[in-house]
Amino acid sequence: MVMISGRGVDDGRDIAFSVFDRLPVGVCLVTASGIIHHANPALHDLLGCEAGGLPGRSLCEFELDHSGSGSWAQASGDAQRALRNDGSTRWVTVAESPWIGKADGKTGISRLLTVTDVDSIFQQAGDPRDAEAPAEISAVDALLYEAPIGTAEGATRTVSLTKTAIHELTESRPNEERLEAILEQSPIGVSVSRRDDGRIIFVNTRFAELIGLPREKLIGSRARDYYLDSHQRLRVLERLRGGSGVTNMEVQFKRADGSPFWTLFTVNQAVIQGMAVNLAWIYDYTERRSMEEALRDMASRDPLTGIYNRRSFMDMARAQLARAHRFHEPLSVFVLDVDHFKRINDTFGHATGDDALRMVAAGCQAILREYDILGRLGGEEFVVVLPGATADESRVVAERVRRHLARMPIEATDGTFRLTASIGIAGLEGATDTLERAIHRADLALYRAKHLGRNRVAVFEPGM
Ligand code: GH3
Ligand code: MG
Ligand code: MG
Repeated sequence: MVMISGRGVDDGRDIAFSVFDRLPVGVCLVTASGIIHHANPALHDLLGCEAGGLPGRSLCEFELDHSGSGSWAQASGDAQRALRNDGSTRWVTVAESPWIGKADGKTGISRLLTVTDVDSIFQQAGDPRDAEAPAEISAVDALLYEAPIGTAEGATRTVSLTKTAIHELTESRPNEERLEAILEQSPIGVSVSRRDDGRIIFVNTRFAELIGLPREKLIGSRARDYYLDSHQRLRVLERLRGGSGVTNMEVQFKRADGSPFWTLFTVNQAVIQGMAVNLAWIYDYTERRSMEEALRDMASRDPLTGIYNRRSFMDMARAQLARAHRFHEPLSVFVLDVDHFKRINDTFGHATGDDALRMVAAGCQAILREYDILGRLGGEEFVVVLPGATADESRVVAERVRRHLARMPIEATDGTFRLTASIGIAGLEGATDTLERAIHRADLALYRAKHLGRNRVAVFEPGM
């Protein structure tokens, strides 16, 4: 628990100080030339600096300054690497808005930066920008630009401002009014509620915007009314009762019109003027969540064909295999390899070869049942797991796939051509069979199909 001294809670000043210093994302006030004027502890932490080490240093040192690009809006939204004090880097998103201070009766225009740590997202999905294949890089970039992750509405605000209108800040320390102004312009919703009766006693503009109610209505209302899910609320309460705060928990709240939104929710307990309060920050996470889902999905897909890549195919197929063992149900796999694919590349070029692979994936998908799982093993080799199907039943499906592919016209620059494929099939053998072994047997059957002249289906038999 934290003691905050000072005047009563009504004037909002103590609140401004305590909230700013404990914002769960990095926030700093920067002069027009990019010198950090004031920064909160979260930003010190993020950039690996000791407390108080940031003021006076330049954003450039951390590779965070984009005002030189001439576009304010450009600095927002896209993930970038920040250079930390120790030379390491972290993925962050930066939202920037011009900040109009009113201190000392002067109007100085400077900048307010909100820096959000998104490193965990990039690590989770594998950093897509480090992908080797050029095709992957462009796919990822395109996606990133369409759906920028990060700091909610603050991130995509377009601001037109001429440089001549910028004045340097002169004071060396922010005052309370400034902190209040930062709170007001923060992309994070802030509320303070009394712990004894749960009534809200302070909200900032962003909080009111997120909930969709005017401040007057929010003040005096109960925080509990804005949770969407009572279980999530109980989890938050449990943590608070246990004496620990809540940090960046994924919690859903509802707007006044009942529509839900995802937030990163942080609550700390404090005592202000003898009154026990909860300081809460809500950060609109909806966009970022869908971005995370997109990244996760992208990490499981083969970028060329859009079907599952080897790794995620194996994960899903393994789950199906475990299920088949458990319920004593049949399951089979087949491996498909395009015949003489090298010739297709040689004759029509690599780009047409790529088109052909996409067509093969789509052709398979068109014939397979909804619950069959199709993956690309690599190159021109595909793999399918058919839950519930014996090897003989799979043969019927595989024959259909083979015929469909053989009839499918593929466009090249000078006319169309056709291709064929060979397929090897294996069913499960015994209660201890593994996916790897089944695929290996299907491979042996495939080898047989190739040997017998290609464009055919072979089922594994012992001795192959
Ligand atoms: P077989 O009938 O015995 O399977 O002959 P094949 O030519 O299909 O087999 P091989 O393994 O000799 O050649 C496969 C070719 O597939 C070689 C490789 O350059 C090409 N390839 C692998 N991945 C891709 C890809 O992503 N795009 C394109 N266009 N070609 C690829
Ligand atoms: Mg081949
Ligand atoms: Mg091959």
